[in-house]
Amino acid sequence: MKMLFRNASVLVREDDGYNVLQGACLAVDGEYISYVGFDEPDEDWDVVRDMSGKMLMPGLVNAHGHSAMTLVRGAGSGLPLERWLNEAIFPVEAKMTVDDIVVGTAWACMEMLASGTTQIADMYDYPFAAALTYAKIGIKANLARVGLCFDKEIEPGDWPRTAECINFINVLDGKADINPEAMRELPETAETMALPAELKAAVASGRVKADFSLHSEYLTTDKFVKAISEANSVMHKRVNIHVSETEKEHMECILRRSKTPMEYFADMGILDQPVYAAHCVWVTDRDLKIMAEKGVTLVHNPTSNLKLGNGHARIPEAIAAGVNVALGTDGCASNNNLNMFEEMHLAALVAKGAEKDPTALTDAQILDMATVNGARALGRTDTGILKAGFKADIIAIDMTAPHMLPALDPVALLIYSAQGSDVCMTMVDGKVLYEDGEFFTIDREKTEKDLLEASARLFG
Ligand SMILES: [Zn+2]
Repeated sequence: MKMLFRNASVLVREDDGYNVLQGACLAVDGEYISYVGFDEPDEDWDVVRDMSGKMLMPGLVNAHGHSAMTLVRGAGSGLPLERWLNEAIFPVEAKMTVDDIVVGTAWACMEMLASGTTQIADMYDYPFAAALTYAKIGIKANLARVGLCFDKEIEPGDWPRTAECINFINVLDGKADINPEAMRELPETAETMALPAELKAAVASGRVKADFSLHSEYLTTDKFVKAISEANSVMHKRVNIHVSETEKEHMECILRRSKTPMEYFADMGILDQPVYAAHCVWVTDRDLKIMAEKGVTLVHNPTSNLKLGNGHARIPEAIAAGVNVALGTDGCASNNNLNMFEEMHLAALVAKGAEKDPTALTDAQILDMATVNGARALGRTDTGILKAGFKADIIAIDMTAPHMLPALDPVALLIYSAQGSDVCMTMVDGKVLYEDGEFFTIDREKTEKDLLEASARLFG
């Protein structure tokens, strides 16, 4: 399909920052952007759209989330992290079924599409079920089964999750057969013994990817980390880790090991692989140096960190140290939404307020965190910028709302004025998945009914 957007404001990344081309054209050919500029290309178009009053910008990248936590939105509000996990979250998660993950993930996709997110890094249980949900809906996702291990004595070979983490990746990559674990998560495979065609296609296109995860230093063991690190030394996948989220976690690690969590993961060899590390609120200057040297991405989750009373990551210092910084929402139990515009806004305010310096972060640095830096962290370097040759992951913003006019500085408006609800169209790989309140790949009514029923049962 060849599509032309005309009369649009188009947000483009230039060497010295972002610029908005007013009254410009953007063309899409299949999955890719084929043209951005002022002269309308003379071609036969399948679709031509007038985008007056709208800005086209790259789809937002949520580089850290736990999508199906829409089921526990806001649960345990007011509790500190450890009590929040143990009292409000883990007991409910223990009751979740494969069907719950499907509906919780689909509900997250609706929220993300309606607020302009086109790709997510999702660390959660039942990743096959979530992967199939993303494949059907069309959002890009890097999925990882949660890499947890509590028993310090147990050998990785005797701990089923070790094999499950590895098997998830190998099955998606077509390098292993579906085992009973996968079949439990993919009821549709039971008859055919094959991955559903939609999931196979999404993996082949690169929309769905499988990563490793290590939950954190405090919920894993040396043996487990070593086993995942060794497996990945030949599998070459990305690794999603929570690091130094709370002061308690950070200080207890230092007491136990005489090293920070980041130093621990560096010593275990895992940072020699591509890692994106969520939170990093308490990382030291030395940790930032390690991250820059090893190419570890810091995924900043300002809302979650503030809501759980954990503080905030030192983003200006991280950027100055040369660390790639991306942005995420975390699960929406600790947020309570998946609105990346809110994360951009908060990331800017927190850094400027904490540093007492309005220049602490530039608009370009904030937008990079929400787009191209996240794309780089997730191994999707053909996304995050509106430019010919890049994937057509595009959102349209209504620039006519009262809070968006006058548009004296349209780049700053995206950070300080725009709301997630200003998104009026979301496209992934050249396909419009959401427009003006309508979801084209999700049955909204059924999903809402299923979500409310699941939530009532989990909290009943
Ligand atoms: Zn998290």
